[in-house]
Amino acid sequence: MSLFKERKKGIIFVVSGPSGTGKSTLAAELIARYPNDFARVVTCTTRAPRRGEEDGRDYYFYDDKTFHDKKAKEAFFEVESMYGHHYGTLKEEVYKHIESGKHVLLVIGVGGALQLMKKIQAVYIFIGPPSLQELERRIRLRNKDSEEAIEKRLRRAKEELEKKNHYDYLVVNEIFPESLAVLQSIVVAEDHKVFKGDT
Ligand code: ADP
Ligand code: 5GP
Repeated sequence: MSLFKERKKGIIFVVSGPSGTGKSTLAAELIARYPNDFARVVTCTTRAPRRGEEDGRDYYFYDDKTFHDKKAKEAFFEVESMYGHHYGTLKEEVYKHIESGKHVLLVIGVGGALQLMKKIQAVYIFIGPPSLQELERRIRLRNKDSEEAIEKRLRRAKEELEKKNHYDYLVVNEIFPESLAVLQSIVVAEDHKVFKGDT
């Protein structure tokens, strides 16, 4: 028996929180376990690819002009600027998956999630760090950012943590397998929710 129902249209799960809390790792693990039920939305950025990142898989890597052209055409659900670069979620990418019946995982920053809350019905999940010290340790361990970028991320994280109560769920990602189990519980419960008035 599958944990998830047969459905015509998927649910949008917005997995959000400060950089380095483990959002991408949790989302990737959930999708790896249930590839037929979940899809990750590939978002767009103007930052340069990091080592090992691929266009179309990790991000759509756009130059500034392409990004701004798409923005002018209202192709994005939300956009957020972070650390001198732009990030955005293409509407088309989200629709493509939910119309195919898959649940969608949207892994985005806090500013973007707050914009989406005003626009679309979705389940909003905040992934928090156990502490700021641990967040710093993880960002350093990930070993993909310069010292300046790390400091910027940590300053921003403090502000973002104050927004956690705007979300539907809060998952403090301390012990990875436990956080994954909590995330899985949330998505399974939402998948089984009954809406009054549904036939
Ligand atoms: P985000 O997508 O939120 O920026 P990542 O998924 O890239 O964060 O995770 C940041 C780093 O922390 C990665 O090296 C990841 O392997 C590690 N990590 C994720 N969850 C945990 C955890 N519960 N305990 C320790 N390290 C973790
Ligand atoms: P990174 O540069 O480390 O890949 O991502 C920085 C932050 O941007 C992460 O928290 C990531 O989840 C977020 N992010 C990625 N794509 C988008 C997007 O389309 N919109 C928003 N608002 N944030 C995004």
